[in-house]
Amino acid sequence: MKNDRIVVIEDEPDILEVMRYNLTREGYDVLSCENGEEGLAMVRAESPDLVVLDLMLPGQDGIEICRILKQEEATRFIPIIMVTAKGEESDVVLGLGVGADDYLTKPFSPKELIARIKAVLRRGKLKEELTSDRVTLPGLTIDPQRHEVKVNQECVEFTATELRLLHFLASHPGRVFARDHLLGRIIGEGAYVIDRNIDVHVRSIRKKLGEHRHLIETIRGVGYRFQGRES
Ligand code: CA
Repeated sequence: MKNDRIVVIEDEPDILEVMRYNLTREGYDVLSCENGEEGLAMVRAESPDLVVLDLMLPGQDGIEICRILKQEEATRFIPIIMVTAKGEESDVVLGLGVGADDYLTKPFSPKELIARIKAVLRRGKLKEELTSDRVTLPGLTIDPQRHEVKVNQECVEFTATELRLLHFLASHPGRVFARDHLLGRIIGEGAYVIDRNIDVHVRSIRKKLGEHRHLIETIRGVGYRFQGRES
């Protein structure tokens, strides 16, 4: 498996060195530079998996760099973790406003940095898997963008969670998903839900699907599968 690549833009050599050392040890490929202009060029050229961006930089500051990267078609999906010094909290708000995905306040431990990086990368991968493409099957259409489910041409009302769950399963026909996986994907890691809740949602979804209820299969002791055309 390919290592995730991280670009670190940080003008304080000591901090940069600590980050480089720890991220490399954690198995990331690390590229770094000490000012915004170079950083911008590096991100455009390398298209890394994530950027760690210091806020206070000589020349163009972190806010500006973040704004530019989040506007460009080729770089807007690259997650950015903003690093700020204490007392720059108002800048944090600004940073999140221009699209930073998370932030860390100095001083922070390498452990903290790595935890944030992992969380942000995981969220990124989640987004990839959670497409919003319409799913069309005989007698069933699921359109998350319009928040619309049609069963035999009739619109049926689904809650947001039900729609996400149904759409996720239907987007991966034939694949078995464990309950806890679905919980993390659909309901979110932060939410407090018990395992059985997935079953409650599925029961409700099946009811609404009517004659198409069989499309969601229960895999005993594991979770659920949307009926695949193959597999
Ligand atoms: Ca700085």
